[in-house]
Order: sequence, then structure tokens, then C-alpha cells
Amino acid sequence: MTSNAGETLDAATPFPEIIEAVKKAGGQANRFCFQCGKCDVVCPWNRVRNFSIRRVVREASLGLSEIELDEVWRCTTCGTCPSTCPRGVGQIEVGVAIRRIATSYDVFPGAARSVPAVGANLALEGNPLGQPRGERDAWAKGLGVKPFAEGMELLYFVGCYGSYDPRMQKVAVATVKILQRAGVDFGILGSDESCCGESIRKTGHEAVFRTLAKHNIKAFVDRGVKRILVSSPHCYHAFKNEYPELMVHFEVVHVAELLAELVATGRLALRRAPPQKVTYHDPCYLGRHNGIYDQPRRVLGTIPGLALVEMPDHHAGSLCCGGGGRIWMDTPKGERFADLRLAQARAVGADVLVTSCPYCISNFEESRLGLEEGDAPEVKDLTELVAAALDEAEAP
Ligand code: SF4
Ligand code: SF4
Repeated sequence: MTSNAGETLDAATPFPEIIEAVKKAGGQANRFCFQCGKCDVVCPWNRVRNFSIRRVVREASLGLSEIELDEVWRCTTCGTCPSTCPRGVGQIEVGVAIRRIATSYDVFPGAARSVPAVGANLALEGNPLGQPRGERDAWAKGLGVKPFAEGMELLYFVGCYGSYDPRMQKVAVATVKILQRAGVDFGILGSDESCCGESIRKTGHEAVFRTLAKHNIKAFVDRGVKRILVSSPHCYHAFKNEYPELMVHFEVVHVAELLAELVATGRLALRRAPPQKVTYHDPCYLGRHNGIYDQPRRVLGTIPGLALVEMPDHHAGSLCCGGGGRIWMDTPKGERFADLRLAQARAVGADVLVTSCPYCISNFEESRLGLEEGDAPEVKDLTELVAAALDEAEAP
């Protein structure tokens, strides 16, 4: 086969650079793989089709990866298999190392065909959706949201989906309403905010990630930002765990943590929600990758009228929605993890499937399409339920 870069690629030819890239990304851990197969057992792909991350890791460690195959792009980076591997193999790091090689050859097979356009959108406009940078804060018009200035309590980093996606803009509006009601002094970056870069990095676009990160870091430093509020667990992960690689450390708080803090300190009073059964979906990058499980449940527990029920896969065992490192790739019906999750929510009798991540919301809303009215629970972000409970509190 021939790459877009015009070089001839022979699938049978080992890629010595993959061995080097994998070593660099995951150290020597993959040498310790004793082929137990536990990673394949827990991988959500094997609930919908065959996929072996064990094989991907094994082939990479031998320099035998076939970068023209879809398998290289299948991992959502959900974090389930690394947390169960008895030998500490970094499956995600290995997968990203292979994608870096594929990206350097411009090889994007199957569902990954959409990735280069996303990379170009990010490089040009600072968001994956290709929307104009100058319209990044159009959602906030008329809400009284100020530009961030030094000395403010919080920078609200809205994120790309909250800024441009009509469904997620509702979450940004709900967040603003909550912050204003709690008397939090906050501001936004507006058109100077760029994508955090976390998800494009997982596609192997390291240079795009670094450009975005540097832009954001400069914006934070220039304005004297100390504490950053995020709606997306992916922004959280980038600021907390990846930007420090660039020698900066900012305090980052996910909205689920802030809500728990505001409720605990009496700055927010939540009461009189309509009686509803809700279930909470742990986003991979909030739960497994960053250990935040209790705060969202505590917040839900403070809204009288809500009854929280757990689905079969919860906390560290949460079922990935199918987003993460695959958020911009189409997955055919019948292979979508989000469909399984909605079925689980329905099976436990939930009226509302609550979560705290724009990717999860997008995937769940997509899965709701085509289902009969009353057959699928509503899908809500935690902030939307809290904002609604503020309205209830105001009722006579
Ligand atoms: S769980 Fe770890 S040791 Fe077992 S096959 Fe997978 S990578 Fe290898
Ligand atoms: S990180 Fe998740 S999606 Fe990726 S291989 Fe492991 S279990 Fe499967």
C-alpha cells in the first residue's frame, strides 16, 4: 500500500520505529506481558465485537504493527484494561505510540478518516468542530458573563462542546446560572480559549496538542489564572495530568467537585426536585483516570426527591460511552457502547441517566435517537439537574 505521504508501506515489514516509540511511551513494561488475556476480557469492545488489545500490544512490541488496519484506532483509551493488567503494561501509551507513527505517515483507515480534518480544525480555529474562533463565547451573550481578570475566584474553562455544540451549550448556561446563584466571582477567556488538546493527543497528533496547550498556558499565565473550573473530564485530565509535562501547574476543579464544595459550604441550597429515579454514569476520564466518584453522587444525594440507583457497571467498573480517543470516529449501530449503557439505565428503571462529560452526553443523546418515546431515560448533565433544583427552590 502507499501512504498519503507517497511512501510505499509493506504490512509485512516490521517498523523498528514502532518498537522505539513504544519503548519511549510505555517503557519496557510491554516486555512483561505474559499473554494472560485479562485486558481482552475487560475491554468493552468484546461486548459488541472481537478485538484484542493484547494482540495490538504484542505486535507493537515486535515491530509488527499494521498501521493500515482499523484495530490501531479502536481503543477509546477508557482505562479499564490498564487498571486490571497484572504486569503494569501501558496499553493506552502503546496504542497512542502506534497512532503517532500512523499519523506521521498520514495513514487513517476506516473510521479514522475523520481525524485529519479534526486536526486541521484544531490548528486553524482552536476547536475540533471547525467553528470560528471569534464565536467561541457567543453562547454567553446576555448572561452577564465577564472576561476573566486577575483576582477573580475562578476561570471557567468552557471547553469546545460547551462553547459550540447546541446540546452542550445548555450545560454551559446551567453552569453559569449555578455560579451566579452561589456568588462565585468568575470569568471566561472567550475567543482566547483553545481546545485543551487532550483527545487529539490520543490520536497521535502530538504537535497539535502542544500548540493548543501552549496557547492556553499563555492565556492562563498572562491573566494570572490560579484556579480553573472545567465541565469536561478531558479538560480536567489535560490540565491536571498532561500540562505539567510542559512545566506548569494550575489548580483545576471539575464542576462535580465544585458543586459538592458549594453544597457542603452552604453556598448552594438544593431542594424540592420532582420525584425521579436517576442513575449516574461515571465518565472514564473523571472516574477511572482521576478517581472522582463520590462528589457527583453526593450532589445528587442533596436533592430531595431524587432516588439514586446504580447500574451494573459503576465506579471503577464503569462502561465507556465510546468517546475518549474515538470521539470523532463513527461507530456503526450495533457496536456502540452507549446503546448498552442506555439499556442498562432502562433496566434499572431510571427516569434520568445523569453524567458529567460532554462526550458521554453526546454519545447518549445519539443513542436515544430512534428509540420510542418513553423507552429511553432522559440524558442530563449533573449541572442541569442542579440548575433545575435551584428553580424548584425558588418556587412558592
Ligand atoms: S492483561 Fe497485561 S499481562 Fe495480561 S495479556 Fe493484557 S497486557 Fe499482557
Ligand atoms: S483502554 Fe479500554 S478500550 Fe482501550 S483497549 Fe483497554 S479496555 Fe479496551
